[in-house]
Amino acid sequence: MKLRWAIMGGAALLALSACSEKEAALPAITAAEVDGAAIAAADGRPGVWLSHGRTYSEQRYSPLNQINADTVGDLGLAWYADLDVGRGMEATPIVVDGVMYVTSAWSMVYALDAKTGERKWTFDPKVDKSRGVFACCDVVNRGVAIWQGKVFVGTIDGRLIALNASDGSVAWEQVTVDQSKPYTITGAPRVIKGKVVIGNGGAELGVRGYITAYDAVTGEKAWRFYTTPNPDKKPDGEASDKAFAEKGNATWSDEGRWRTDGGGGTAWDAMAYDPDLDIMYVGTGNGSPWNYRLRSPSAPEGGNNDNLFLSSILALKPDTGEYVWHYQTTPSDTWDYTATQHIMLADLEIDGQTRKVAMQAPKNGFFYVLDRETGELLSADAFQKINWATGVDLATGRPIENPAARFADSPFEAVPGPLGSHNWHPMAFSPETGLVYIPAHTLPQIFTSEQPGAKGQVYWNTGLEFAAAPGPTPDEAMRKAARAALKGQLVAWDPVAKKPRWTVDYPSPWNGGVLATAGGLVFQGSFDTALRAYDAATGEKKWETNTQYPSLSGPMSYEIDGEQYIATTAGWGTAFSLTGGAPIDKVGTPELGRVIVYKVGGKAELPEYLTMELDRTPAGPSFGAPQQIGLGQVLYDRNCLVCHGSLVVSGGAIQDLRWAQSPGDKDSFRKVVLEGQYASAGMASFAGKLTADEAEAVRSYILFRANEDAAPAAAN
Ligand code: CA
Repeated sequence: MKLRWAIMGGAALLALSACSEKEAALPAITAAEVDGAAIAAADGRPGVWLSHGRTYSEQRYSPLNQINADTVGDLGLAWYADLDVGRGMEATPIVVDGVMYVTSAWSMVYALDAKTGERKWTFDPKVDKSRGVFACCDVVNRGVAIWQGKVFVGTIDGRLIALNASDGSVAWEQVTVDQSKPYTITGAPRVIKGKVVIGNGGAELGVRGYITAYDAVTGEKAWRFYTTPNPDKKPDGEASDKAFAEKGNATWSDEGRWRTDGGGGTAWDAMAYDPDLDIMYVGTGNGSPWNYRLRSPSAPEGGNNDNLFLSSILALKPDTGEYVWHYQTTPSDTWDYTATQHIMLADLEIDGQTRKVAMQAPKNGFFYVLDRETGELLSADAFQKINWATGVDLATGRPIENPAARFADSPFEAVPGPLGSHNWHPMAFSPETGLVYIPAHTLPQIFTSEQPGAKGQVYWNTGLEFAAAPGPTPDEAMRKAARAALKGQLVAWDPVAKKPRWTVDYPSPWNGGVLATAGGLVFQGSFDTALRAYDAATGEKKWETNTQYPSLSGPMSYEIDGEQYIATTAGWGTAFSLTGGAPIDKVGTPELGRVIVYKVGGKAELPEYLTMELDRTPAGPSFGAPQQIGLGQVLYDRNCLVCHGSLVVSGGAIQDLRWAQSPGDKDSFRKVVLEGQYASAGMASFAGKLTADEAEAVRSYILFRANEDAAPAAAN
């Protein structure tokens, strides 16, 4: 294998030399040889993909160019591999030495032959599936890291596990969270200077965020940086102590729900690293609960209630976790405007100077360009239509807010809503076009304050009254109007000119991550199950195929034996699909996560996608007084909506309760909802959250909705 580069055919060598002018080709390496030097020199080995965003700069730009405007029309399926479980797929595969390492829902890890898709090994961390209820946004996983022969995965129940790359056996395992609290891990670890860095999620449900670094060889904890203060504003004995004593503590009130809820700020996705500056970058999340008036009612004298380090980019020293600088995108966040979104590093020519920048398009809708050495804000411009702020003051770095946006006196329909103008879906940057490709969308949501004294959220601890937001069950016309407000867009953003160069509109929000290549192409999957290639300079569509499920994770590219491959993962699930209730009338099989790989001249075919008409028959007649059904809706929206969908319309990944059997019978429903009958499949018991009478009210609402939606079908 190691001789491959020496004996490689002429055509492949030509392609290689054309695409990697910057770095001379380096010899092939094995999984055991992947380290910081190898990741930093990634452009010298364009055929492999060694870390989450391919390089420490996380540009997701492949220097391979065999697939280009001339050849992309001949792109065909090379192979596909069905994985062992369904639900959302968000993983970017890692490929080295002919092996692909990829994860699926429920934190499972697979090693596949990257040329054929043949399974080499599987690792099931055997997470307690009833913890799925703690996953705000599906039980997804965004992939592994690899370092010196070990493969690292974070699990949905908060463990960091090191596997031996050769056979998938466990080398070490660390519990990184207090498992009595609703922490989850969905993000991919990164390995920097021999330390595996991992964050966590859970800010929706009330936890205190942090990232931790572990020694890659021994698993021993090296340092931890908290993103919100110690509940008593005392030192934790961790790397973040100094930053909170000097900056953070004063920006939180002495009282408020943050002290019991942990404050949030969970770092669940973005990281990047600059080996020259020796600075790593981490994005942090929203507060717990969302509503900042409940979270941190008023700051102490001299404080400003910004709630550091929520919704921020943190620059840290990777050896120690020492604070270098921070930039907070959304002070006093109250809308779930996380800054966990993709952080990308590049060197840009700005005003005649080469600037080392960090770029981010967080949920709040502004595209930020920062000097990554100092944290100086260079520009911030809206990349989607937004209404919560009119701009960012470059002198202070603070947003210029719309006063109505904080919903103090009346509800406010915020654009964007909590799913953001851009979410976890990775961007890409092409050094050739100088453009950043952003998978953007418009997803409004109404915010309204909790009533003083109201019980409020019993489970979905957002500080937001979901139940109050949608109002009465809308009729069909209202539903159509609401759908029409939702859209998606691929934005080719010029970070120097601070405006889009081109855009592609999509009928649905929540489209996939992006790959840019030296073939002059960008690849993106869409929510409506297409995978497309566009001309990177113009946005002209060059190729399209059907992936049967949404392929959202963002494609990646690699090369074996002189052939370039484009790989993506696909599956039904992820946050929008669960909560949004995508309007699908058919379900397909098999409902498993899948890896799909293309190459020029590929002749394989996906298996037939078997669809069946949904049996739109309610399990029983509607029952109950309007008051009981109304209570059922409120309780459904608070407890069930996030997974089972708004208005009891499932997005397809999870049981559509309108057509399920258990709501037809009081005892059957009680067994599922209050006794955990399906806990092993991910439906946790809500005993302690709902009383028997409340569960019965939820059942009455489900059957009301089922009969409402069944009626038109019966009339056809
Ligand atoms: Ca959030």
